[in-house]
Amino acid sequence: MLRYRIAIVGAGPAGYFAAQALQKAQDEELTFAIDMIERLPTPWGLVRSGVAPDHPKIKTVSKVFEKIAKVDGFRLFANVELGKDISLKDLREEYDAVILATGSATGRKLGITGEDLNNCISAADFVPWYNSHPDFTNVSVDLNTDTAVVIGAGNVAMDIARMLAIDPTELDPTDTAQHALDVFKASKVRKVIICGRRGPEHAAFTAPELRDLPKLENTDIHIDANQIHQALLRVDQMGEVEKDLKNNLEAMRLIAEHDKKGVERRLEIKFLAAPKEIKGNGKVEEVVFTINEVKDGKVVATNKTFSIKTGLVVTAIGYEAVEYPGVKIENGRIANIAGHVEHNIYVTGWAKRGPVGVIGTNKSDSSDVVDLIIDNLKEPKNSIGIEGLLKSGHEVIDQVGWEKINASEVISGELAGKPRIKEVYWKRLISLGTS
Ligand code: NAP
Repeated sequence: MLRYRIAIVGAGPAGYFAAQALQKAQDEELTFAIDMIERLPTPWGLVRSGVAPDHPKIKTVSKVFEKIAKVDGFRLFANVELGKDISLKDLREEYDAVILATGSATGRKLGITGEDLNNCISAADFVPWYNSHPDFTNVSVDLNTDTAVVIGAGNVAMDIARMLAIDPTELDPTDTAQHALDVFKASKVRKVIICGRRGPEHAAFTAPELRDLPKLENTDIHIDANQIHQALLRVDQMGEVEKDLKNNLEAMRLIAEHDKKGVERRLEIKFLAAPKEIKGNGKVEEVVFTINEVKDGKVVATNKTFSIKTGLVVTAIGYEAVEYPGVKIENGRIANIAGHVEHNIYVTGWAKRGPVGVIGTNKSDSSDVVDLIIDNLKEPKNSIGIEGLLKSGHEVIDQVGWEKINASEVISGELAGKPRIKEVYWKRLISLGTS
């Protein structure tokens, strides 16, 4: 029987699905010892620090992750940072294969004047702030403004806009970070405007998320019916179009035509509005947009502009992979050919393909990478794995340690009527996980 040592770096969905694919490929002839390495003291990646707290159903995939973690041969090494506590070179030498599943955590930049003003915040900071990521507890978010602008027409923009636009008491039964909930409760924001630079037919929202919007109890959703009508006309001329696009436009049409509740809180989606400049004296005060139009199927700028007075801009325009020693970043991803980086190093998930796709998309991606690894495996190495690489006394949080953190958070949550109360401080997480 051949037994191979595989290191997976990153304990998010892509990492867990890679472990699952390895576990599924095991038989009497071939087995895997899987070491999952994670920088944070906690696993689950974006399921913990990305998925919006008011969408708890999406987080139930964590049950699958915990099953994967229980399979023989799987070990978790959390609180271990690649590039700091261990090097990629060491991992490469010690393991038969290394799978990088480190995601994309850096927010893309707009590249326009004013982006660096106070209270222009990237989704890459804003989302982990409200989700209790221990590195983002101190993000400064000022909601002392009646209007907020969210730039980007994707699901992250929609999550952020919802979090800003709903009545914060609706977040009481969720696992929103307490520091964020306090800020939301004191918020003066009553109007949130999502701005997409292209047309409704080009939006990256998905239909289920759009269809959920009118169900919000304390927020009216506005989309200009004329923009949707024009988009439907353009799409009609395109002949056969994808079902997803039809569903999206239909969901938007229903929102545009939906009766409004007449409540104070409002979430608006504007299209064909390309951010040109953010103005303000030290702090965001106004965003100027170029009005775009669709001409012969192409989105082009007009010479017209409009502006929105606002005290908060959140940019949700996609992410890039984080750079660390030993990897090359190309177009925001770890440079790779079909998941192969170099030598016995592979990549999966957002770090491989860029920040696109829902959690489930990582399943097929990781399974393809595992097929490739199995094809390339040679004789198993005679090595001991990560233990020989870490400094003695390094406080690793293993699966048992993580289960202690998990249980403590869930118990605190139960008492407060929430799914969990996440611990937000590194020191406390480490002490909970190593006690
Ligand atoms: P996304 O879906 O790629 O959307 C990014 C948006 O930013 C696009 O509308 C894009 O417009 C816009 N954009 C990019 N550069 C811009 C610029 N310079 N100026 C103005 N707009 C710009 O990315 P995302 O929202 O970060 O989501 C990432 C992935 O996670 C997606 O696959 C998403 O579906 C998934 N996700 C899913 C859920 C869920 O299922 N509930 C929740 C959150 C995220 P263009 O198209 O014009 O480039």
